[in-house]
Amino acid sequence: MSDGDAPAPLLRAEGLMKTHHGEGAPVHAVRDVTLSVQRGEFVSISGPSGAGKSTLLHLLGGLQRPDSGSIWLDGERTDTYSEARWAVQRRKRIGIVFQFFNLVSGLSVADNVELPALLAGATPRRARAERKHLLDELSLAGKERSMPAELSGGEQQRVALARALVNQPGLLLADEPSGSLDSKGTREVMRLLSRFHQRGQTILLVTHNARLASTTDRVISFFDGRIVDDAKLEGTPSRRAGISGVLELRD
Ligand code: ADP
Ligand code: MG
Repeated sequence: MSDGDAPAPLLRAEGLMKTHHGEGAPVHAVRDVTLSVQRGEFVSISGPSGAGKSTLLHLLGGLQRPDSGSIWLDGERTDTYSEARWAVQRRKRIGIVFQFFNLVSGLSVADNVELPALLAGATPRRARAERKHLLDELSLAGKERSMPAELSGGEQQRVALARALVNQPGLLLADEPSGSLDSKGTREVMRLLSRFHQRGQTILLVTHNARLASTTDRVISFFDGRIVDDAKLEGTPSRRAGISGVLELRD
């Protein structure tokens, strides 16, 4: 299919550039990145530590600004948004999970999940219902009143996933979501991502772990700020068997 016939991508980035100016020499973290993600895709961005993966994810989610280049979400240009507009749009349209969960430590599990819904304008009743549904789904029923510090890493990440999905965002961005979990927690997170994907969730997963990347539908290899490969993997039964193999990591 030529580009002209393709459906509008859910996410499109063109010519993204980002240089970090820290203590030492400037770091060209993202150099001329162009990519599209279609609705329903489960895409991974894989590459070694320092390749610029997190920077790219931050640009796509509006957490950092590109030096140049353009981003469209659902056909709408987002890189020109003000901070305030980004904050509102991100809440509704993009869910983000991080390696270290980033839960609000002073809020209960229930409140952590309900907060983004309330901020997005949901009624308390609706926020509660959605929170209950997600916590059940993520096997966290009974943990509503717990504080984040009382939970295991795997549980905290599941709360973070519930929080990211509570507003039913079109796009889920995940930055090394299993990076601080043991193999059991890793397997759990990957299974959950896969389950949400099977129900239609579009997911962009950033990971330095090539094995985890290989369980997604499409692997974008990232090196030194650039895309060096972009490979669609076919979802054949044998490949699916391979995935369960990958996910049956020993503890
Ligand atoms: P990855 O997620 O692939 O490990 P990052 O996007 O975190 O890569 O980082 C890419 C490069 O940019 C690294 O060299 C990192 O040290 C540098 N970098 C990232 N964020 C900043 C920052 N805020 N200030 C300065 N340098 C940064
Ligand atoms: Mg990173």
